[in-house]
Order: sequence, then C-alpha cells, then structure tokens
Amino acid sequence: MSRPSFCASLCAALLSVLLVGAGAQPASPVTAQSIGDSIYPRLGQAGLDVRHYALDLNVDRPGTSELSGVVTLTVGATRPLPLLSLDFLGPAVAAVTWNGQPAPYRQDRAAGKLSIQRSLRPGEQATVTVRFAGTVGRRPDPELPLDVGWQAVAADGKRPGANFTLSEPDGTRTFLPVNDHPSDPATFTTRVTVPAGYVAAASGVQVLAQAAPGGGQTFTFEQAQPIPTYALALHVNRFERQDSPAVPVGVGGAAVARRDYFPSDLPDGTRDAYTRTGEVLTVLSGWFGPFPFGAYGSAVVTPGIPALETATLSTMPVRASNVRVLVHETAHQWFGDRVVLGDWADVWLNEGFATYAELLWAQAQGEDGAAIVRGWYDRAGRSPTRPLVAASERQLFDTTSYIRGALALQAVRVTVGDAAFQAYLRGWVAAFSDRPARTADLLAHTRRQLGADAEAALRLWTESPTLPPLPE
Ligand SMILES: [Zn+2]
Repeated sequence: MSRPSFCASLCAALLSVLLVGAGAQPASPVTAQSIGDSIYPRLGQAGLDVRHYALDLNVDRPGTSELSGVVTLTVGATRPLPLLSLDFLGPAVAAVTWNGQPAPYRQDRAAGKLSIQRSLRPGEQATVTVRFAGTVGRRPDPELPLDVGWQAVAADGKRPGANFTLSEPDGTRTFLPVNDHPSDPATFTTRVTVPAGYVAAASGVQVLAQAAPGGGQTFTFEQAQPIPTYALALHVNRFERQDSPAVPVGVGGAAVARRDYFPSDLPDGTRDAYTRTGEVLTVLSGWFGPFPFGAYGSAVVTPGIPALETATLSTMPVRASNVRVLVHETAHQWFGDRVVLGDWADVWLNEGFATYAELLWAQAQGEDGAAIVRGWYDRAGRSPTRPLVAASERQLFDTTSYIRGALALQAVRVTVGDAAFQAYLRGWVAAFSDRPARTADLLAHTRRQLGADAEAALRLWTESPTLPPLPE
C-alpha cells in the first residue's frame, strides 16, 4: 500500500476520531479458535486451511453497496475443528451447504463471524457453499477517513457508478466469507456478472467472458497461485482494457500477460506511468527473481484512495498514477502477495521491501541512490521511531514500517555488497513463497545466507528503540 502523502496531511487531525470509531465496534470475545494475530486477535480461525475460493458474484447495480452471490470454499484443517468459523461482515446469508447438504449456520454481523456447525479433522477436505444477498458490511480503515473492503463509487453526472475492492488489512470480510488473515492464502476462481456496458476485472488471468441473460456479461478469472484474502482485486467499471506485449519474467522465463484497465474521462497523462510497467517488471525481477503470477497490470480508479497492491492487478488512484507508486505496488506482488505475512505486526516485511524497491528502480534509472538513502534517513529522523515489529494498529502504516524498514535492508546491503544482497532477496522469496513469514524468519534467513555480521546489522535496525546510524 502507498499511503504516506495522504496520511501526512490528514491523519493527525483524524486519527483520534477514527480510533474512537474503531473502538466503538461491538465487542466480541477473543475465542480460542481465532488465529491469534497480535494486532487483530479476532481474525481468522486457527487450524483452518482454505485452499480455494470459487466466487460467483452478481453486481446488478454498480456504484451501490448491493452484492449477491455464492462462494464455494474448499477447506482443510491442520487441527481438529469443532466448527467452521469464517470472518464475514457482509450481506445476509440465505443458505449454507456442507459437501452438498444443507448445514446449520449462525451469522453474527456484529461480531463479524459466520459459524457453520460442522466439524473437520486433519486430512479431511470439505466443500462449503455460502449463498448471500444484500448490503455489504462496513469496516473503518485503521487511520484513513474511509472504509476498507468493498468500495461503492456512486454515479454522478460525469461518471457511471463503479465498485472495487480496497481490503488491506481486513476488508475482504465486508463482502465475502473468508478466513481473513494473510497467513492463510488461497487460490481463487472469480466469476462476476455485470450489466451491459460494464467490465469486470479481478486478480488472475481472465479465462472467459460470455454474454449473460439480460444483456450483461459474465467475466471469469483464475488466480492459480495462493494470495492473501486482502490482496484480491475485484473491479466493476466502464473500463477500457488495454493489452500490452507479454513480458518474459515469469518462472523459467514464462510470459507474464500484460493488461491494464482504465475508466473513461481520465485526466491527460494518467496513463503515461503504466507504459513503463514492462520495464518495472524487468528491473524488479532482476533483483527479486521471477514474477510470481501469470499476469500483471493496474486498474485505475478515480477516488482519492491509497494505491493498493492487489494481486496481479494493482489498484491505482488517478492521483498516484506515477512510476514511483507503480514500482512500490509492483514490488508488493513479491512481498505481501506471494511472500505473505504470518502476523500483521510484521507488516514492515511488506512495506520496507516495497519502499526499498523504489531505490532499486531509481538506481536502475541512473539516479543517485546515496542521496535517496540520505533523504530517507533525514525523514526517519524527523518522525517518531520504534523497533520494526509493530505493537499497535496505528503503527502498521507509519514512517517506521516504510522508511526504517527500507533502511534496514540498506544496512544489510552495505554489509554484504550488491551480488550477495541480490541472492539474499531472491532466496527470501524462494524460501517463503509457500509459508507465512515473520521478522524472526528474516533474521534467521539473513544469518543462514549472509552470516552473523549481516544478521547483526539487520537486528540492530529491527530491534533498536532509537534510530541506528546511517548505513554507509
Ligand atoms: Zn506498500
């Protein structure tokens, strides 16, 4: 996510108000079966492994908060589960089935849980369907004056209505029943039916677009690699889809399909940054290893929201349609979308790496990297600092997560040199593409791959209560 400029002007004034709003949500006891995230202790169910979500959604009135559909979850368990507990703030549930048979359930919108009264043992797999219709739920952003999750952009005289997702950290539960924690990534099949004239876009590769009854269209996307729930992109808009030549930076040199989605009536120049996407993929894959997904591009949206690294399709507001933000969100495809968080407290593993990518890109353009690092250091020095593992929700997207996180990686780089640092970044992606990562994992990876000096350099930056000296 790229939000600092927005936050700098607004957050100080709004933070206290918003925190009161968040705290006023109905209390829910922390149950033994939640995942136990240190920032969001109510999210998720421990031991639940959702392998696949198959979505069949209808957006009949774009620009509103109405949504209906059926979600089919393929679930397994890593420990005996007495019931299934999904995160769901969304529309009213009409029916639930378990392996094809009707199953008893309880929807508690205040607590944000949908409980299904069926048990599951390790080694078993079940297919669960949830049919729902109505108005999506609300989840205020941790610090910005907006709700996360399903976004409704009402039609005005100039533009038609539109919808899109903006779900970090836990907004997907506003419209889908999910195990809404990044430590349980899953694959997705997303099928969306929209009215005539509209286009749906979603994470993954589009595999089908077919006429729907009533003149609309149904679009189907396959997201074949697991992604965290918050990274699911879903857009309904009067988009123009623009295809570009594929970029051979996938696994084994595989082609990564390139498509971007633009609404009509964009200000002049908005599309310019996106003509650089292929170059960005090439530079970043040189440092991070093969691009982890089969397609990549951006979907531009008109509201003034933060940019978000939705998987295979970054969500980019008009005003952040510049190459620096594009680089940042593209880097998150590796760091956040493929290497997923084990706990929200470690969000600097997303933001520090994505910010660092801005330096790697700038240096590839011939810019003075040392000046950028000094600028970061000055900025970090003007802000409150803390150890990198966040202790509260308000710390998640602060300057420390982004800038001190990036400086921590610079400390490793200057200790070992560029070649070893490149291998280290690639090794991190390779080792943690299929298991959630925590800060302790990165420290262990650093020692294993680079030795004790590099680990000590990183540890100073992760743990010191004060700002360590500029890495030079
Ligand atoms: Zn970010």
